Amino acid sequence: MPVLDFEVGGSDFVTMAGPCSVETESQLMTTAEAVRRSGARILRGGAFKPRSSPYAFQGLGLEGLKMLARARELTGLAIVTEVMSECDVPLVADYADILQIGSRSMENYSLLAEAARSGRPILLKRGMVATIADLFVSAQVVLDNGNPNVILCERGIRTFETALRNTFDVAAIALIKEISHLPIIADPSHAAGVRELVPPLTRAAVAAGADGLIVEVHPDPDKAWSDGEQSLDFAAFDDLMTSLRPYLALRSAFQHQAANPRPLEAV
Ligand code: PEP
Ligand code: MN
Repeated sequence: MPVLDFEVGGSDFVTMAGPCSVETESQLMTTAEAVRRSGARILRGGAFKPRSSPYAFQGLGLEGLKMLARARELTGLAIVTEVMSECDVPLVADYADILQIGSRSMENYSLLAEAARSGRPILLKRGMVATIADLFVSAQVVLDNGNPNVILCERGIRTFETALRNTFDVAAIALIKEISHLPIIADPSHAAGVRELVPPLTRAAVAAGADGLIVEVHPDPDKAWSDGEQSLDFAAFDDLMTSLRPYLALRSAFQHQAANPRPLEAV
């Protein structure tokens, strides 16, 4: 699907990178420049933040959206940012190239419908307790509202395993490539919860056939206002992108579109 002047879900692997939250002008601009230099095409950054605690930083809102738009002007990167509420859709769609629907919102069908009607591509993150079938139901809500441009995202699910923030369901990526024409990207940052595991999970995602990656990057991760433990600094992100090259070179050998997309019940 077209985003600015390139395709998501085409032959190129597309990387989205940036901070969990938009914090300050300099944080965002330096990050945008750094991730662009390392090969990202899309800048991520939350202006409206879904947080587990009501006392945690909730995002800069409109000010954050304006900073994202300035970062696009400066770097040419496309922008993906979360929209949490139906009434914010027109505002966020004014500034963003892709609307992110977060895990906690995946089953908010009125939000999905409104976001779909904005006409912007939708990045649909899998809910933390959502089955793959549930994810497809949500994708269908977007499609049924006249928007064919859905990008699915595996960001880890809750299981009995507590050693990591979430359990990265890499098989979901392989399965979705078999049964659907929709692009599927990986979010190793929220899956792992710790930065050391972001590179190996990314490599696993590429091997499973992912169409792209969304990863958290911050100039000084230990001082980040949200999700610092799982954020990469600029050097670590650059190393990750370099280390992916041989994996991406192999990708064309096994990359395919589902020959016979079929409903999940038929798998
Ligand atoms: C995020 O992308 O920062 C985020 C909150 O993600 P998720 O909805 O997957 O938890
Ligand atoms: Mn985050």
